[in-house]
Amino acid sequence: AVRIDALNKWYGHFHALKNVSLEVKTGERIVICGPSGSGKSTLIRCVNQLEQHQEGDIVVLGQLLDDHPKRLRQIRREVGMCFQHFNLFPHLSVLKNCTLPQTANLGIAESEAMAYALKLLERVKMREHANKYPGQLSGGQQQRIAIARALCMRPKIMLFDEPTSALDPEMIAEVLEVMVDLAAEGMTMLCVTHEMGFARKVADRVVFMDQGEIVEQAPPEQFFSQPESPRTQQFLNQII
Ligand code: ATP
Ligand code: MG
Repeated sequence: AVRIDALNKWYGHFHALKNVSLEVKTGERIVICGPSGSGKSTLIRCVNQLEQHQEGDIVVLGQLLDDHPKRLRQIRREVGMCFQHFNLFPHLSVLKNCTLPQTANLGIAESEAMAYALKLLERVKMREHANKYPGQLSGGQQQRIAIARALCMRPKIMLFDEPTSALDPEMIAEVLEVMVDLAAEGMTMLCVTHEMGFARKVADRVVFMDQGEIVEQAPPEQFFSQPESPRTQQFLNQII
């Protein structure tokens, strides 16, 4: 579904991604972890072109990413993203947050958009809150709405950038549960997270980044029990 090949990215003179190669097959779940500033967000933002890279290739759903605007729109539509801060529209109801992307971007009729939104709200256990505004909901609830809203675009791939790191501990579980369900349904997922319980449970591979490089990647059993690089060992010692 995604192939990243020898990717290099600079912010000015700062070399943020160094020769990064990563393949995500359809239906695979990849967890990316690593210290702050290691380039995790930069990498996944390159996948939906929120950031431009300078060298290397990214192929998403068979399309080579370049700056052609048509291609960009298509990629944004097929690749859903969910961030640390939920970015819901504060002046729109929960339901409207979920119908607007469908009517405005996909040209779906209001009634059909509504039915689909309600189905997804049900799935994230938020249907009863459909008429509230984001400001009336907890962080965990808002994040579940953000996931439902992303799913309303019928994405083929979902990117997550630390979706639980701004949440209180009691709300983390409810968001992870939604992500686990999504994984169980076969969604292709690329997730930046430090929730190692989630990684153990759903990841096909865990990728460790440090200083703009992929240092190591392995299936979770192997990654956690016998990390090869001293940098990975040190990181795991700090967070587990
Ligand atoms: P965190 O765990 O804190 O979210 P991260 O692994 O996601 O970190 P990135 O946000 O990808 O790290 O940043 C990687 C490096 O690139 C950091 O050193 C950061 O300061 C730098 N960087 C990120 N965005 C920009 C930008 N827009 N302009 C300049 N430098 C940037
Ligand atoms: Mg980040």
